[in-house]
Amino acid sequence: MPELPEVEIVKQSLDKKIKYKKIKNVLIRNRNLRFKIPLKFEKQIVQKTIKKISRFSKYLIIHLIDNSSFIIHLGMTGTIHILEKNKKNFNTNLSFYSARQLPKKHNHIEIKFDKINMIYNDPRRFGFIKFFLNKKNLINYFKDLGPEPFSNSFNINYVVNYLKGKDKNIKNFLLDQKFVSGIGNIYASEILFLCKIKPLKKAKNLSIYDYKKIIYFSRYVLKQSIKKGGSTIRDFKNIHGDTGKFQKEFRVYQRENLNCLKKGCKGIIKKKNITNRSTFFCNSCQK
Ligand SMILES: [Zn+2]
Repeated sequence: MPELPEVEIVKQSLDKKIKYKKIKNVLIRNRNLRFKIPLKFEKQIVQKTIKKISRFSKYLIIHLIDNSSFIIHLGMTGTIHILEKNKKNFNTNLSFYSARQLPKKHNHIEIKFDKINMIYNDPRRFGFIKFFLNKKNLINYFKDLGPEPFSNSFNINYVVNYLKGKDKNIKNFLLDQKFVSGIGNIYASEILFLCKIKPLKKAKNLSIYDYKKIIYFSRYVLKQSIKKGGSTIRDFKNIHGDTGKFQKEFRVYQRENLNCLKKGCKGIIKKKNITNRSTFFCNSCQK
């Protein structure tokens, strides 16, 4: 599943390809995604120019010139392909779980620009697309989500107030989008390893210093991953066909039974299912 860093890479790639371009035509081959694409969607975006592309958490936001917008969520298997006229279809893919060529099936949506087609493909159909008439509607859509780790609102006062007295374990909080938006399963394990905090530790038993480390390393891990082009698990590539490199930096994720990478630590990396999600941690240096 693409997480925040991978969606950020897709955003940066789209920004290079479709910003300031006018939507000439919209073709919907299959409306069945997580939410059915309304019949009026094509009319709502056609003939409009892309003003900018932004991202909140794992949502791509395509801003249009008249202050309307639409969001794309890639779900589990959503990918975006760019086909350029006069170019072969190599490395069309912009997102997680890619193929080198445009797949033959599951190309749900095609948005046509001059000389460029952008295609949304989603075999498992957990992704979705949604239109917003104005900025107020867009902001309102995200109102129940917590701040991103990068946001100034994700600060020590916020974290202390949110977590104090809470019985739930800290790993579950990092995945709780109401608390903080955009930390997924892979990165939650990596963050807690750097914090030296055991994933099953109850939030209420953490110290102020622990809370500070969580803020610091949440930002650090996501930034590092974006810098490395995201994590490539099953072929994630950016617009140039380059794979992400962050999976080579994993310190605990998918390192079950291997030695801990922390200097001087003799611990072994363990894997445990927490609320049905694989969680990796060192049995020695994470307390
Ligand atoms: Zn260790």
